[in-house]
Amino acid sequence: MIAENIRDVEAKIEAACKASGRNRDEVRLIAVSKTKPLPMLQEAYAAGCRDFGENTVQEIMDKYDRMPGDVRWHMIGHLQRNKVKYIVDKVCMIHSVDSLRLAEEISREAVKKGVVVSILVEVNVAGEESKFGIDTQGAQMLVQEIAKLPGIAVKGLMTIAPNVQNPEDNREVFRKLKQIAVDIKQKNIDNVCMDELSMGMTGDYEVAAAEGATYVRVGTGIFGERHYT
Ligand SMILES: *Cc1c(COP(=O)(O)O)cnc(C)c1O
Repeated sequence: MIAENIRDVEAKIEAACKASGRNRDEVRLIAVSKTKPLPMLQEAYAAGCRDFGENTVQEIMDKYDRMPGDVRWHMIGHLQRNKVKYIVDKVCMIHSVDSLRLAEEISREAVKKGVVVSILVEVNVAGEESKFGIDTQGAQMLVQEIAKLPGIAVKGLMTIAPNVQNPEDNREVFRKLKQIAVDIKQKNIDNVCMDELSMGMTGDYEVAAAEGATYVRVGTGIFGERHYT
């Protein structure tokens, strides 16, 4: 079932890329495995997935040693500063950096462990009260400040688009994130690259892929509904 879902998602990404004149390998699929048990991750791994997304430090810690070493772990959830130390040397990318204080903590722990952590700045494009992320006006300034910190490499931007019925309703959100990245890139800030755009989830990843996503984060579409207990 999972392998089939992955094939289906892959085919849709490919079609979206084709229709928008993009190369299929510009978009990487992150299998969002939060709340899902290890056997399901192993099934996804066997089907070819190497990028996995989790939204808690605890789950990354629990799953990290039990999955093969070539898995790339993506921290996509809100990150508390006191937990940064557990994951800086385990994750391939932190997608959810939305404050200088959090970035400073990541920097401190990265320097301590002798690693450089790749991060994305999370932008609350639609300005939703319920969402984390820096507002669109503050994004460039935050990137500029974070860029000065050792042990951190800013790779791009991330957004969580609103939960909508019609994915087309989020096209503007994805365009806006891309535009913010383009604007920041033009500033040629040292230690900043704006090549990565993490956007699109199960409901809207095809639109996101068409609008320039380099990472799409798909959970339900691969693993099925989540049941929180
Ligand atoms: C849970 C989650 C996803 C995946 O959501 P689905 O709708 O299940 O695909 C993507 N991004 C973030 C940040 C998430 O927390």
